[in-house]
Amino acid sequence: MSESQAWSEADCLAYDPFAGDDYGNDFIDFGAKIVNGRKVYQCHICQGPIAKGERHRVDSCILDGERLHARFCGICCAAMAISSEDGGEAITAREPEFQPPLLEDPS
Ligand SMILES: [Zn+2]
Repeated sequence: MSESQAWSEADCLAYDPFAGDDYGNDFIDFGAKIVNGRKVYQCHICQGPIAKGERHRVDSCILDGERLHARFCGICCAAMAISSEDGGEAITAREPEFQPPLLEDPS
Protein backbone atom coordinates (compact mmCIF):
# COMPACT_ATOMS: atom_id res chain seq x y z
CA MET A 1 0.00 0.00 0.00
CA SER A 2 2.90 2.33 0.73
CA GLU A 3 4.64 1.47 -2.51
CA SER A 4 4.55 4.25 -5.04
CA GLN A 5 3.59 3.36 -8.55
CA ALA A 6 6.54 3.97 -10.81
CA TRP A 7 5.23 2.33 -13.96
CA SER A 8 3.08 3.58 -16.78
CA GLU A 9 -0.39 2.02 -16.89
CA ALA A 10 -0.66 2.62 -20.64
CA ASP A 11 2.69 0.96 -21.30
CA CYS A 12 1.74 -1.95 -19.06
CA LEU A 13 -1.58 -2.46 -20.87
CA ALA A 14 0.16 -2.32 -24.24
CA TYR A 15 1.94 -5.56 -23.36
CA ASP A 16 0.20 -8.83 -24.20
CA PRO A 17 1.19 -11.44 -21.61
CA PHE A 18 -0.66 -14.12 -23.57
CA ALA A 19 1.01 -13.47 -26.90
CA GLY A 20 2.07 -16.73 -28.47
CA ASP A 21 -0.30 -18.79 -26.31
CA ASP A 22 -2.87 -20.67 -28.35
CA TYR A 23 -6.11 -21.16 -26.47
CA GLY A 24 -8.10 -22.15 -29.53
CA ASN A 25 -11.62 -21.10 -30.42
CA ASP A 26 -13.04 -21.35 -26.91
CA PHE A 27 -11.05 -18.33 -25.81
CA ILE A 28 -12.73 -14.93 -25.63
CA ASP A 29 -10.54 -12.06 -24.51
CA PHE A 30 -12.17 -9.17 -22.64
CA GLY A 31 -8.98 -7.20 -22.43
CA ALA A 32 -7.05 -5.77 -19.54
CA LYS A 33 -7.38 -2.90 -17.10
CA ILE A 34 -5.56 -1.49 -14.10
CA VAL A 35 -7.39 -1.82 -10.80
CA ASN A 36 -6.86 -1.49 -7.06
CA GLY A 37 -6.87 -4.84 -5.30
CA ARG A 38 -9.81 -5.27 -2.95
CA LYS A 39 -8.20 -8.30 -1.33
CA VAL A 40 -5.00 -10.29 -1.62
CA TYR A 41 -4.55 -11.99 -4.97
CA GLN A 42 -1.85 -14.14 -6.54
CA CYS A 43 0.16 -12.87 -9.48
CA HIS A 44 -0.38 -14.86 -12.66
CA ILE A 45 3.25 -14.54 -13.70
CA CYS A 46 5.51 -14.64 -10.65
CA GLN A 47 2.97 -16.40 -8.37
CA GLY A 48 3.76 -13.79 -5.74
CA PRO A 49 1.10 -12.02 -3.67
CA ILE A 50 -0.72 -8.90 -4.78
CA ALA A 51 -1.37 -6.82 -1.69
CA LYS A 52 -4.78 -5.45 -0.78
CA GLY A 53 -5.00 -1.98 -2.27
CA GLU A 54 -2.10 -2.58 -4.65
CA ARG A 55 -2.50 -1.08 -8.11
CA HIS A 56 -2.29 -3.99 -10.51
CA ARG A 57 -3.41 -5.28 -13.88
CA VAL A 58 -6.22 -7.73 -14.43
CA ASP A 59 -7.02 -9.51 -17.69
CA SER A 60 -10.47 -11.02 -18.14
CA CYS A 61 -11.36 -13.79 -20.52
CA ILE A 62 -13.58 -16.78 -21.06
CA LEU A 63 -11.74 -20.04 -21.57
CA ASP A 64 -13.71 -23.24 -22.16
CA GLY A 65 -16.89 -21.49 -21.01
CA GLU A 66 -15.36 -20.33 -17.73
CA ARG A 67 -14.84 -16.70 -16.82
CA LEU A 68 -11.24 -16.23 -15.74
CA HIS A 69 -9.25 -13.35 -14.33
CA ALA A 70 -5.49 -13.22 -14.59
CA ARG A 71 -3.94 -10.71 -12.21
CA PHE A 72 -0.44 -9.29 -12.34
CA CYS A 73 1.42 -7.77 -9.39
CA GLY A 74 2.94 -4.31 -9.45
CA ILE A 75 6.45 -5.60 -10.02
CA CYS A 76 5.34 -7.64 -13.03
CA CYS A 77 3.31 -4.64 -14.26
CA ALA A 78 6.48 -2.55 -14.10
CA ALA A 79 8.34 -5.23 -16.06
CA MET A 80 5.54 -5.31 -18.63
CA ALA A 81 5.59 -1.54 -18.91
CA ILE A 82 9.24 -1.51 -20.00
CA SER A 83 8.89 -4.51 -22.34
CA SER A 84 8.90 -2.31 -25.41
CA GLU A 85 12.32 -1.06 -24.32
CA ASP A 86 13.98 -4.25 -23.10
CA GLY A 87 12.34 -6.64 -25.55
CA GLY A 88 10.41 -8.41 -22.80
CA GLU A 89 13.51 -9.46 -20.90
CA ALA A 90 12.35 -8.18 -17.51
CA ILE A 91 8.88 -9.69 -17.70
CA THR A 92 10.24 -13.02 -18.96
CA ALA A 93 12.60 -13.08 -16.00
CA ARG A 94 9.58 -12.78 -13.65
CA GLU A 95 8.24 -16.17 -14.71
CA PRO A 96 9.45 -18.82 -12.27
CA GLU A 97 9.11 -21.71 -14.71
CA PHE A 98 10.51 -19.93 -17.69
CA GLN A 99 14.01 -18.83 -16.90
CA PRO A 100 16.05 -18.66 -20.11
CA PRO A 101 19.69 -19.66 -19.61
CA LEU A 102 20.76 -16.24 -20.84
CA LEU A 103 19.48 -14.64 -17.64
CA GLU A 104 21.72 -16.88 -15.55
CA ASP A 105 24.70 -15.01 -16.90
CA PRO A 106 26.70 -13.81 -13.88
CA SER A 107 27.56 -10.14 -13.96
ZN1 LIG B 1 4.12 -10.75 -10.34
